[in-house]
Amino acid sequence: MSLPWEDAVLSTMQDVPLTVTRILEHGVLVHGRSRITTWTGEGEPQRRSFAEAGTRAVQLAHALRDDLGVRGDDRVATLMWNNAEHVEAYFAIPSMGAVLHTLNLRLPAEQLVWIVNHAADKIVIVNGSLLPLLAPLLAKLPTVEHIVVSGPGDRSLLDAAGSHARVHEYEELIADKPTTFDWPELDERQAAAMCYTSGTTGDPKGVVYSHRSIYLHSMQVNMAESMGLTDEDTTLVVVPQFHVNAWGLPHATFMTGINMLMPDRFLQPAPLAEMIEQEKPTHAAAVPTIWRGLLAELTARPRDVSSLTQVSVGGSACPPSLMRAFDDLGMRICHAWGMTETSPLGTMARPPAHALGTDEEFGYRLTQGRFPAGVEGRLIGPGGERLPWDGESAGELEVRGNWIAGSYYNGPDTEPLRLADKFSEDGWLKTGDVGTISPDGFLTLTDRAKDVIKSGGEWISSVELENALMSHPAVAEAAVVAVPDDKWGERPLATVVLKEGATADFDALRAFLAEEGNIAKWQLPERWTIIEAVPKTSVGKFDKKVLRRQYAEGELDVTRL
Ligand code: AMP
Repeated sequence: MSLPWEDAVLSTMQDVPLTVTRILEHGVLVHGRSRITTWTGEGEPQRRSFAEAGTRAVQLAHALRDDLGVRGDDRVATLMWNNAEHVEAYFAIPSMGAVLHTLNLRLPAEQLVWIVNHAADKIVIVNGSLLPLLAPLLAKLPTVEHIVVSGPGDRSLLDAAGSHARVHEYEELIADKPTTFDWPELDERQAAAMCYTSGTTGDPKGVVYSHRSIYLHSMQVNMAESMGLTDEDTTLVVVPQFHVNAWGLPHATFMTGINMLMPDRFLQPAPLAEMIEQEKPTHAAAVPTIWRGLLAELTARPRDVSSLTQVSVGGSACPPSLMRAFDDLGMRICHAWGMTETSPLGTMARPPAHALGTDEEFGYRLTQGRFPAGVEGRLIGPGGERLPWDGESAGELEVRGNWIAGSYYNGPDTEPLRLADKFSEDGWLKTGDVGTISPDGFLTLTDRAKDVIKSGGEWISSVELENALMSHPAVAEAAVVAVPDDKWGERPLATVVLKEGATADFDALRAFLAEEGNIAKWQLPERWTIIEAVPKTSVGKFDKKVLRRQYAEGELDVTRL
């Protein structure tokens, strides 16, 4: 029974707001010697200590406020790769009370325009190498008053952009600025940063992170059950800073002094392998597509990558074949699940103590993982009923917690959007992911709700078929999508990318699925096609919408067994 507030014993604890400013100050003071190393492609990488980056963040805040007139909750956008300057923006903008808006540089031009206008961004900080992307859009961005350019690139592209925005050089702007800032007292619930979902359907949706949510999420990233790194580690942050704040790593590193290795624009497998060999990171984070590319590179041109022993993989399901191949290289993959709406850390697959060293261990590692205390999960069946955590009942995952979105951004001076298909009546986030949860709390996703194949009233998991296919030695990549079928409603179509020099035998692949993949006979695809590459979304996920459209428009050469 809860007491009326005035009768209750009052806590005697201080109420100190949880802010990004605090993370910055702590990183500079206590971990000032930790480093951000940015790959430059040639010659020496750029090396900057946390103390230096912190001072430059202070100078950037002065420049934004005093020279460019940033006030209150103005939105300051970044169109940048992962590098030290981007980290400086990560801290300067929220600490001064403004809102950092990271722009996804892989989005189609019209979506970028839509997003900048929707957020009403006032400033864009851009890497010089991305001016070819930004310049043609500027005439359509009326709210942008200033452009700040950092790093190499052709500035003259901005001359013909037809924009009223004034152009500045990052280094010139921050030079000679004071090295201390009287940071404002912020409310921890205030907006700190925003990020739009990649939006495969409908308009992109803005998620606005608070100081509090970022602070608590960073603590979770640092817990031993999550990434659990220390200042002895160096993390190679491949996951872009524009994709859910690089999974919270730039904030988490300043809390505990983890060194950062930033790849800038050098995201191809060869430079990644080179930077691992040279800079010896101990941890790395990226989506499976990156790791598949690196694996092929290391197989073709072996390098000493022995420093890298921990790899966080998420964003889409990690195929078992990839996990095994990385185990053989001495790099232990830890599988994680999350979304833009979940900051993103939802679950992480560290096997429970009793399973370590047993036959069960690998199975646990393949799941999407366990929920931390800050995230609650529940499964909802097709009829809206709550399903048990029995490892078998599959339903839509709903989550709630301290760093989970409860609504979407709806423009300045408007109420946030609580879309009924995204949030339950009692405020939980409907993830759109379908899966099971075991009695000991491990989540296994079987599909996106919209990708599940509904055949004759039963569900077929496209992910299960893909994972089994990708463990075949001739298969480089495979995506399975639902296609209409007169008899069954929907059936799976297997689209396969072959490894170089391999040939296709669909009957053999089908037999392989049944024998090695343990796929039930009724789930085996009868429609097959070879494709050059699986189409990917702006954040490197399989873009199944494109495959479904190509099939519908007869663009695929399909063999029916
Ligand atoms: P985004 O907001 O772009 O990060 O996309 C979030 C979605 O990515 C989730 O709702 C999942 O569908 C998918 N996803 C993320 N991590 C995983 C994972 N480990 N396994 C399967 N799907 C994942």
